[in-house]
Amino acid sequence: MDTQLLIGSRFEAGTETEEQILNPKTGARIIDLAEASHSQIDAAVDAAEGAFLGWSRTTPAERAGYLLKIADAIEAEADDFAALEALNCGKPINAVRNDELPAIIDCWRFFAGAVRTLTSPVAGEYLPGHTSMIRRDAIGSVGSIAPWNYPLMMMAWKVAPAIAGGNTVVFKPSEQTPLTALKMARLLAGILPEGVVNIILGRGETVGNALINHPKIAMVSITGDIATGKKVLQAAAKTVKRTHLELGGKAPVIVYGDADLEAVVNGIRTFGYYNAGQDCTAACRIYAQDSIYERLVADLSSAVSTIRYNDPDDTVNEIGPLISGRQRDRVASFVERATEQKHIEITTGGSPGSTNGFFFQPTVVAGATQEDEIVRREVFGPVVSVTRFKEDEQAVSWANDSDYGLASSVWTRDITKAMQAASRLQYGCTWINTHFMLTNEMPHGGVKQSGYGKDMSVYALEDYTAVRHIMINHG
Ligand code: NAD
Repeated sequence: MDTQLLIGSRFEAGTETEEQILNPKTGARIIDLAEASHSQIDAAVDAAEGAFLGWSRTTPAERAGYLLKIADAIEAEADDFAALEALNCGKPINAVRNDELPAIIDCWRFFAGAVRTLTSPVAGEYLPGHTSMIRRDAIGSVGSIAPWNYPLMMMAWKVAPAIAGGNTVVFKPSEQTPLTALKMARLLAGILPEGVVNIILGRGETVGNALINHPKIAMVSITGDIATGKKVLQAAAKTVKRTHLELGGKAPVIVYGDADLEAVVNGIRTFGYYNAGQDCTAACRIYAQDSIYERLVADLSSAVSTIRYNDPDDTVNEIGPLISGRQRDRVASFVERATEQKHIEITTGGSPGSTNGFFFQPTVVAGATQEDEIVRREVFGPVVSVTRFKEDEQAVSWANDSDYGLASSVWTRDITKAMQAASRLQYGCTWINTHFMLTNEMPHGGVKQSGYGKDMSVYALEDYTAVRHIMINHG
């Protein structure tokens, strides 16, 4: 198991406080890893800064070559990456191997191709005797900070577009899930020039805080909680850094009376509970029209009660545990508070799912109203609420009545109704008759307090590059 930080071309252990890395399936300790010291953080930032000039002057084709090699190297070790990610996050091995790894490899390949298509829009005379042209140039050293729900995928989403765009990176994984990032450190060091990507470990309030406040970091890209995003903005104000914020979500799922109920139930069973609901786009806030409400609750509850988890034969498991005991207790306390409301009924689940590990039963909370905490706050666990609505208008306005604005979906057989709702929903993404489907060509990112800046797609490359104007006076 790789345990060392990558600073320039050097591998070294962190020298500060040790963090226990746990197996969420059992609660057992995997390893203790020490976080980076201030001087190690400085050294990583210096290494990124030192590499910037050379790296930013490589051609897109050269950088694409490196990214393709990275993709091939991950692919060659895909089973080992999958096993390590499954161990550290408690994910079912099949989900990591069959869903996540192919998408991660494709992400590196996508940005290898995309960077070669990034061309300037115009060159022309906007003042007599002067020719203007537009460049898109790298920004500098990017401080990149990832959460624990999809560690290796978040690393790909952040590092691939940043280095494709000519930037260098200091990457900090979540202190709870650093194992695949440390394996990536070895892989990247064998492919990239020294200092292009540096990997440091540590907690948010120590190492993360030092990184976002570092005067030599030109841009901070973070995926995490809204509260963390606010701290990044406060820190960025001191040195006017660029920021790229992918924060939380609370996705509304509007189910109209004419929807294909079987597809809806299958969709929510999958997309509401995938990764044990630890997904910022999880289909977790259902608005069901009066006419189908009772049937939807009954069918969904019985479908959700069949979700497989914590089976000794991991190949049959559909979801894993929560990432930590703390996260499981947080989820349990949301459900407990919900049950105190007389109008709410837990129709399946509702309790911790095991004595060992951090499991929570897949849960349906029926009868929830727009004012309830369970409808308004992000639970980040296998818990889906169902709220009844009468008029079509009501559903869209409740869906928009949220601090979050990341993802949403609309389920109906009426395309006009679907398009009207989609055009009015204030979310970075609206799916129609599906949910949660992502592809590297399309942008992912929020509005409102879900943050701003896009992951994946050419829009991410735009975010990691600065538009510049060059003007020539030719008389
Ligand atoms: P978190 O905000 O606690 O931590 C995310 C990362 O930020 C971690 O690496 C952490 O160490 C770091 N961090 C925490 N405090 C910091 C600080 N003061 N300064 C600098 N860095 C700091 O979030 P989490 O609990 O790891 O992840 C769950 C959250 O992430 C959820 O709210 C979820 O919705 C969100 N998320 C969003 C997306 C998206 O694409 N929008 C994707 C995945 C997760």
